[in-house]
Amino acid sequence: MLAIRKVAPEPGLVCHDVEAPGIDRNDEVLIRVEAAGICGTDLHIADWTAGYEAMASAMPVTLGHEFAGTVERGSPEWLRRRVVVRPSVTCGRCEGCRQCGEDGCTARTGIGIRRDGGFARLASVPARNCVAVPEGLDAELAALTEPMTVAAQAVARAGTVEGKRVLVLGPGPIGLGVALFAERGGAAALTIAGRDDAARLACARALGFADTRDALAGDEPLAPAGFDVIFEATGVPEVASTAQRLLASGGTLVICGIHAKPASFDLTAMVRLEQSVVGSYRAPVARWSEVVAAITDEPERFRKLISHRLPLSKALEGFALMRSRTAIKVMLQP
Ligand SMILES: [Zn+2]
Ligand SMILES: [Zn+2]
Repeated sequence: MLAIRKVAPEPGLVCHDVEAPGIDRNDEVLIRVEAAGICGTDLHIADWTAGYEAMASAMPVTLGHEFAGTVERGSPEWLRRRVVVRPSVTCGRCEGCRQCGEDGCTARTGIGIRRDGGFARLASVPARNCVAVPEGLDAELAALTEPMTVAAQAVARAGTVEGKRVLVLGPGPIGLGVALFAERGGAAALTIAGRDDAARLACARALGFADTRDALAGDEPLAPAGFDVIFEATGVPEVASTAQRLLASGGTLVICGIHAKPASFDLTAMVRLEQSVVGSYRAPVARWSEVVAAITDEPERFRKLISHRLPLSKALEGFALMRSRTAIKVMLQP
């Protein structure tokens, strides 16, 4: 079967034939992958930017950690059911696992990162990583669950957004997902900002977010101290200090982008204005079913995040589309 793989710790990916996986253990299931999203993380892995060195020992490895499909083999409990896969495989043995269960594990293995993932027709995964998908939810919507858990977790990390003036910096899939969940959380006003980002800001408006600003398009500048909650989803370290200037007294800045180098903050301003800065990363397991329910609630709205659909054989074109920032979410259909 065709698979998109990382074969060496250097820039590049290969798209080639590999042997189809079986199931080695009776706690695993074999999934026929129906939709798999390309993520910013996959771009970093393809370009081999710093931070993914631990993958080297797992190569060659099939990428793809945002996927959904139908269980083809394995425990009768899951057989023929449509599932979305939580990509984080916990060890069950470490101190974190023993103290706090799955959310506490400090020795995780990522499906599509350090074990074979969903950029292939078949993927074998631990049954406990499957999340059931309701009847009416199709595979491409189900495959949005993983990035949307990241977005929902960022909103949760803000404490509350109810009645707040919210700014989202970075109109990628995570930023737009944050806007959707902030709206569901009762934000009073939502602004989405980008830089030279016409296509993705147009998607924001199509989602119903009328107030978009492009830093390079002559749009009205963002008001200093004008926002109670700001989400940094660009991954550009310099944006952090800009975000701080836009943050109101007592405001919260949630960092959910992955930054290649440190950022600088005005700590005195942070102290005097009593601003909070929080990080947000992986959602707890319980968030997955909440997010599946949210997508089921507004399926056609979430579907607008999918800008391109491609067969697996054209995956590398999908990566190029993502890099050009004309795509929001590229969905591969193995
Ligand atoms: Zn991802
Ligand atoms: Zn563990």
